[in-house]
Amino acid sequence: MRLSQFHLSTTKEVPADAEIASHQLMLRAGMIRKLAAGIYTWSPLGLKVLRRVENVVREEMNAAGAVEMLMPSVQPKELWEETGRWEKFGGQLLKIKDRKHGEFCYGPTHEEVVTDFARNELKSYKQLPLTVYQIQTKFRDEIRPRFGVMRAREFLMKDAYSFHIDADSLDTEYWNMYRAYERIFTRLGLSFRAVHADTGAIGGSASHEFHVLADSGEDAIAFSDGSDYAANVEMAEAVSPGERAAPAEDLRDVDTPTQTSCEEVAELMGIPLTRTVKSVALMGDETVGFVLALVRGDHGVNEIKLSKLAGMGESRLATEDEIRDHLGANPGFLGPLKPQKAITVIADRSVAAMADFVVGANRDGFHIAGVNWGRDLPEPAVVADIRNVVEGDPSPDGKGTLGIARGIEVGHVFQLGDKYAAAMDATVLDENGKARVMSMGCYGIGVSRIVAAAIEQNHDEAGIIWPQPMAPWDAVVCMINPKGDAATIEAAEALYADLQKAGMDVAFDDRGLRPGVMFADIELIGVPHRIVVSPRGLEAGTFEYRGRRDSEAQNLDRSALLEKLGIA
Ligand code: ATP
Ligand code: MG
Repeated sequence: MRLSQFHLSTTKEVPADAEIASHQLMLRAGMIRKLAAGIYTWSPLGLKVLRRVENVVREEMNAAGAVEMLMPSVQPKELWEETGRWEKFGGQLLKIKDRKHGEFCYGPTHEEVVTDFARNELKSYKQLPLTVYQIQTKFRDEIRPRFGVMRAREFLMKDAYSFHIDADSLDTEYWNMYRAYERIFTRLGLSFRAVHADTGAIGGSASHEFHVLADSGEDAIAFSDGSDYAANVEMAEAVSPGERAAPAEDLRDVDTPTQTSCEEVAELMGIPLTRTVKSVALMGDETVGFVLALVRGDHGVNEIKLSKLAGMGESRLATEDEIRDHLGANPGFLGPLKPQKAITVIADRSVAAMADFVVGANRDGFHIAGVNWGRDLPEPAVVADIRNVVEGDPSPDGKGTLGIARGIEVGHVFQLGDKYAAAMDATVLDENGKARVMSMGCYGIGVSRIVAAAIEQNHDEAGIIWPQPMAPWDAVVCMINPKGDAATIEAAEALYADLQKAGMDVAFDDRGLRPGVMFADIELIGVPHRIVVSPRGLEAGTFEYRGRRDSEAQNLDRSALLEKLGIA
């Protein structure tokens, strides 16, 4: 590609509304342009990168035995009503009407469509197992689209679905896909981790998310330093602490006129935060009513774990009125002692194991110290794991301690079991001629998100540093030739042609820009190899070579250059 004929449109300006590096760099490099919130145009440069990711995904899916198809993006309401998701999917589902008042949605995912396809196409166990996939545009009306294509409303996904006669066959394909994902992210040159994920409302079966590790990631991942255990913090278990110590202190009031947080109280009293207990007031269903959830001062409540407890499925934060009504105090001074009305105390396991702790007194301006279960208040009604794990916690598998890293979810594999097939009556005849509901798996990859995630992991002050397999071009030949010297043009053209013949995807920067401007562009867009052809170099019989990660350029003769590029 001659850059004089390509639309490259870069800028030095850091866009004001872009918070993270990948979003800033994609805009500065001119890879994407915003059309509306969460909706982007991919420029010729952006599309080159997107297609490269897509191709790696396609090759590895094909190699793993999946077959490509293409389903429509607009889907009829009736299909979504069969699974109950027309309502349940919530606000992310973009609903549209046609001229005949027929209702449709713009597909956020394709379980319904693919299950409909399967129930019509597949009749016998002999046709199973089958894994199909597509690389297709999805639309989700995200509440907070942000970070450019990282969390967009319209985005490109690879979604695969597998169909099986039984759970064993599904399990086999699940791990086949898991390994294909490992190969895809490895080939793309990303540092990633597969983590145990919450199976959510679908429940039961296995699920893993693949995360690209980056500080800007929206997800927190807990991983062990002593084993390959890794899980989303949402679901990593905080293991049981040791035995509770015997009470050693008497109960006493502590004056805390303005101290409303555990941190402030601990500081005032000169005690570690781990001696304090945080009280979170919630309303559960009628079986539990007003709930006080207790975690240690240095811990945080895990809402997902909490929501799995009896009566807490639909819980919400209590209002200030409800709080005063049940506890007789304002937020900041709450605790489990002497409530005005009946409450349900749910204590984290670490709180249940504490002695001589500090909590709010249920009187404004006061906390109480030296509190002990059984002696000063009844044992908690419920003791459960309701906190997020923290750095240094023991790993739930008993091997090593946990660290916390941030991750960007780029892929998800999921054993759906018969959830969709049963709802949509997708059956095949088994060996005995009996109808059997198929087992299903689904496997997603955020193709467009990968582009942003790769930049989060690979950039410097000058711009993007593409892993080779994702780069828009493998190399760029830069011509510096202010006087229009014919021999220089000829040499640059010849090198450009030779590199292409050797199978490289090469850009030829024939725009005639000043070297500084040209080099800044090439660094910004992250091309792995830069080769300069200039009259001065030709005189010396050399080309100037610089790898994107190199600190300096070097002058190489032709054979050394080709060797450097791996095509000698
Ligand atoms: P998230 O938790 O990030 O919203 P999800 O669990 O909703 O993701 P899936 O339904 O599993 O995502 O979709 C498969 C893949 O599609 C995800 O792993 C992610 O890489 C990508 N993806 C999901 N939502 C978006 C989005 N709004 N923008 C870009 N990519 C997305
Ligand atoms: Mg989502």
